[in-house]
Amino acid sequence: MPLTPEHLIRDDILRLAAYHVPDSTGYVKLDAMENPYRLPQALRAALGEIAAEASLNRYPDPAARALKARLRAVMGVPDGMELLLGNGSDELIQIVAMALARPGAVMLGVEPSFVMYRMIAAFCGLRYEAVALREDFTLDVDACLDAIARQRPTVTFIAYPNNPTGNLFDREGVSRMIEASPGLVVVDEAYYAFADASFLPRLADYPNLLLMRTVSKLGLAGLRLGFIVGRPEWLAELDKVRLPYNINILTQGFAERVLGEPRVLEDQAAAIRAERGRLALALARLPRVQVFPSSANFILFRVPRATDVFAALKERRVLVKNLAGAHALLADCLRVTVGTPVENDQFLQALGASLTP
Ligand SMILES: *Cc1c(COP(=O)(O)O)cnc(C)c1O
Repeated sequence: MPLTPEHLIRDDILRLAAYHVPDSTGYVKLDAMENPYRLPQALRAALGEIAAEASLNRYPDPAARALKARLRAVMGVPDGMELLLGNGSDELIQIVAMALARPGAVMLGVEPSFVMYRMIAAFCGLRYEAVALREDFTLDVDACLDAIARQRPTVTFIAYPNNPTGNLFDREGVSRMIEASPGLVVVDEAYYAFADASFLPRLADYPNLLLMRTVSKLGLAGLRLGFIVGRPEWLAELDKVRLPYNINILTQGFAERVLGEPRVLEDQAAAIRAERGRLALALARLPRVQVFPSSANFILFRVPRATDVFAALKERRVLVKNLAGAHALLADCLRVTVGTPVENDQFLQALGASLTP
């Protein structure tokens, strides 16, 4: 009998559906929380020089010291805390999961939330348990505390603000979860640049808290760079699981240079926040559209027959994310990334035309 994948691949992997990224060529691309703005010409030219001078024949600095120093300064990393860098924060979720995947270990999350937590738990052999959010997507703190007491999770992931809902969970509720947790809690601040709250100043208060960020939503999604801030004793262990050269030489050089002028990305984030307000108001004015509050660079909204509306938007060359079917609480929900003013107008016009009377 010829050898086929079914003979060798783990049953749980065979059953998984691959993470699907649709082809977006030719679309107004508002599906993936990318920053729509490019870098200024002078900065792009400087990156060109860095690329030209980079020693591509050599391995990159395995500790990425220059980049870490830059991140430490720009992000205001508290004294006494260390940094662990990942090839995107997706890789950091994987590093945390691999290091903690003892037999029987549980990863806890809420749902709906970022789908990679569940996927990576499965890859690494952790059991994933999720507590449903309330219907308005707020945190059900009592249910979370109950799950923590019953499941004794090794690690809990909380996206703050949450994706795909966009809201910021109650700070006191998250604090109570951290305090009640027997394991690590990773607060995932992928959207920190668009929110007014962070657990960074609270790191020293909790021995079991790790804080994760990424530059992806900030405007550097193509570089693949995320980081965890936390106590050195935890990060030293997690670092053993990290592959030695996970941050390539161009990512190290480019990110260090771009973050050397932090105002560039901060100003873009401010423009996106302003546009978010305008877009939310315009959406709320459309008939039969329910808009959910956002502290991120995207907006979740509900329309009648969302899958039809999604297809109609696509026909008008606008790509958003269809979340109908992703979770019971997300029935008829679509998620739009905040684009440039022109893109947002194109989206609003297409949506107005796609809503069937
Ligand atoms: C986008 C996203 C990430 C992944 O970020 P990368 O650094 O691009 O891997 C992590 N967490 C949340 C909540 C996200 O929305």
